[in-house]
Amino acid sequence: MTFEEIRALDEQYVMPAYSRFPVAVDHGKGATVWDVAGKEYIDFTAGIGVCSLGYDYQPWVDAVSSQAAKLAHISNLYYAEPYAKVAQKLCTRAGMSNVMFANSGAEGNEAMIKLARKYSYDKYGKGRGTILTLHNSFHGRTLATLTATGQDKFHDYFFPFPEGFRYADANDLDSVEAVAGHDVCAVMFELIQGEGGVLPLDRAFVSAVADLCEKRDWLLLIDEVQTGVGRTGSLFAFQQYGITPDAVSFAKGIAGGLPFGGVMASEKCRNVFTAGTHGTTFGGNPVGAAAACCVLDTIDQDFLDKVKEKGDYLRTQIEAMNIPCLGKTRGMGLMIGIEVKGDRTNRELAAALAEHGLLCLTAGPGLRLLPPLVISQEEMDKGLAILKNTLS
Ligand SMILES: *Cc1c(COP(=O)(O)O)cnc(C)c1O
Repeated sequence: MTFEEIRALDEQYVMPAYSRFPVAVDHGKGATVWDVAGKEYIDFTAGIGVCSLGYDYQPWVDAVSSQAAKLAHISNLYYAEPYAKVAQKLCTRAGMSNVMFANSGAEGNEAMIKLARKYSYDKYGKGRGTILTLHNSFHGRTLATLTATGQDKFHDYFFPFPEGFRYADANDLDSVEAVAGHDVCAVMFELIQGEGGVLPLDRAFVSAVADLCEKRDWLLLIDEVQTGVGRTGSLFAFQQYGITPDAVSFAKGIAGGLPFGGVMASEKCRNVFTAGTHGTTFGGNPVGAAAACCVLDTIDQDFLDKVKEKGDYLRTQIEAMNIPCLGKTRGMGLMIGIEVKGDRTNRELAAALAEHGLLCLTAGPGLRLLPPLVISQEEMDKGLAILKNTLS
């Protein structure tokens, strides 16, 4: 099918909830994709941080196809080997106790919220179900995670929203204390606010909140849906912040392109969910689990060191170009935010880049790069050249 034919069908039959770029992607290899007309694009998006091993990564394709042929799905009523294996790999590498699988970031966070509330209910009874989150955060699109998201623009249309969330300012401990109260059971945040604009939290703030959590028996809930699975140069970003979370959610990059996610719990929370208290039909699906095992086996220390080097390279090169419409860069590893200056919006810049063969994301008012973690030197240089030629 041609791009026009695909777009016509999409416009007729798909709800218009997304504003798409005019590109119909057909296939990919590494960090490069091709549209249906054969035009090449360097991909600095990885499907919004999902395709951690890029496209057509042979061990991943083999793991997924052999598991699909063997057993695609069986439900949580029975045991399955990939499921148990991925649980072990994740928990041991993250230093966490056990895991509950889900299918997306929002569901991982939804489970994390339920875990915190039940932990508190089991210990203190009713009336202690409030979760503190941060302004400018993003936690997902279900009603609860949308409410947890600390951005007013998301708190519209869908009334009534669930109760039990209050918001504090990032990097401001006084603001956290100002909204605290006897009804609080947990604090939940991203260590680098992704959708909010790639804004890393201060280490001092993070450790002060961790201390406060310890003192008041609030659970420390870390949303690693975007920062997790090697994105920032460690398996999880919390491992670079020197904190020990009570629960950590993950999704996006974990299965390298399949819907998979969940929440890991610390020792103190390992028995909060008992039989029948939480569940999801697809959670831990064997194909997703086999894919996630492949991703985790690939992301070893050497791989993580390279993620850091590549991230440093991209940031240094971009800053050295001195492109007038771009400002400072920030982020960790291959999670990079770029300030946008001048008349054109981030969306307009991303559209111009796509037209010239580079796929980029927006976040907050800036640009955001989340390339596949396997991106090659040649692909980085091609992408940087397009950035320079298009925006200078
Ligand atoms: C993307 C994202 C989510 C939501 O994940 P979905 O898979 O879209 O439900 C939640 N938290 C963070 C930090 C994210 O980046």
